[in-house]
Amino acid sequence: MNQLDKIVALCKRRGFVYQSAEIYGGLNGVYDFGPLGTLLKRNIRDAWIQSIFTTQNNILFLEGALLGSHAMWEASGHTQNFSDPLVDCTNCNRRFRADDIDLEKICPVCGKKAWTDIRQFQLMFQTQVGAAADSSSIAYLRPETAQSIFVQFKNIMSTNRVKIPFGVAQIGKAFRNEITPKQFLFRMREFEQMELEWFCKPEQVDKFFPLWVTSREQFYEHVGINKKRIKLREHDKKELAHYSARTTDIEYEFPFGWKELEGIADRGDFDLKQHSKHSGKDLSVYDDETKQSYIPHVIECSVGVDRLFLTLLCDAYTEDTIDGEERTVLKLSSKIAPIKAAFLPLVKKLSEPMRNIYQDIAARGYMVEFDESGSIGKRYRRQDEIGTPLCFTYDFESADDNCVTVRNRDTTKQERISIEKIEAYIQASLA
Ligand code: ATP
Repeated sequence: MNQLDKIVALCKRRGFVYQSAEIYGGLNGVYDFGPLGTLLKRNIRDAWIQSIFTTQNNILFLEGALLGSHAMWEASGHTQNFSDPLVDCTNCNRRFRADDIDLEKICPVCGKKAWTDIRQFQLMFQTQVGAAADSSSIAYLRPETAQSIFVQFKNIMSTNRVKIPFGVAQIGKAFRNEITPKQFLFRMREFEQMELEWFCKPEQVDKFFPLWVTSREQFYEHVGINKKRIKLREHDKKELAHYSARTTDIEYEFPFGWKELEGIADRGDFDLKQHSKHSGKDLSVYDDETKQSYIPHVIECSVGVDRLFLTLLCDAYTEDTIDGEERTVLKLSSKIAPIKAAFLPLVKKLSEPMRNIYQDIAARGYMVEFDESGSIGKRYRRQDEIGTPLCFTYDFESADDNCVTVRNRDTTKQERISIEKIEAYIQASLA
């Protein structure tokens, strides 16, 4: 089994991620997140929010609609430009993204060379709003969260006390009818994005662009990703998206190669200008200093929650041998780990006092688990596999010395601490 397959299996086995509608054969490129996956995603979102705020504190949030009108996606350029090159094999009828395979070679599925011409495949999911099935009712599921921020720019500015430069951030679902969803959570058809649109004066772009690149790069280190597996890659001119004047990707070395984790783009005034032009509404801002109106420029930082989820798992996944026994361990940072600590009575008859300690800590708002079933070794293995940094064990001496042992996930070293110090111990690990 390769590493990615092992991660997929672990995700299912431990309740991080399930194939959507699995009992009906699944839906390709669509996943449900189980109990632990839900917690992990929440920690990812929280860490992202904290990180953008520590970089710049004048950031507002928006929760835009998932459905968008034809007019909006026409103005943004998506109806015309948001497509991937598609090619079919006429022998086995399989479809491929043309830039994913070498058309000089044979089909990787059937071994024949019978390619169609390349054509553009629209990635937006189109739907119909209301009962009338005419062109005026066409709507799309959003392929990115950013556009609602641009479309609401005037409302946001006029209803909040903000001044350029400021940011609008959004976390939410996006949908793309990817030709070949693959590599688990890397390329999905329904996914979640965390996007920040930073509005500034045109002459401020050169100052803020590198600032955001640096801050975003630091974020990955902060959430515990090995910085040797992170690199920046600047797009060359012909690779740039239709809206972008400059793009730097933050890439991660996945088991299947270096790939984009986050894109940071200088979108210039493209979006606000397009929406001004198409809607007929003035989206410019008045500058008190120069006494002139101008269209703000935008720097965008965009990363997928699910792609980062996969990155964290790839980075944390470790197999090692402890005292001659093999184990799998997710070496997630405590900030990101879904469960911060587990409370384990050594044997079942010690459950009650340990449960009381656990309930006390859980009531203080920590995401912790209590587990009394199975051998202690088995319970440690489970916590290792889900990335729990600390395991507290209540044993036969605990009632006398008022202490528990605490086991460190990565070193498996144990230390005896007093029960009163448990909360402080967890807190220190989260700092
Ligand atoms: P790619 O080249 O991988 O298709 P892109 O350049 O089209 O990506 P963007 O439009 O820049 O992607 O999207 C911003 C971010 O959203 C990406 O960096 C990625 O983290 C996430 N993302 C984009 N498409 C998907 C997808 N199909 N599944 C999961 N995450 C995605």
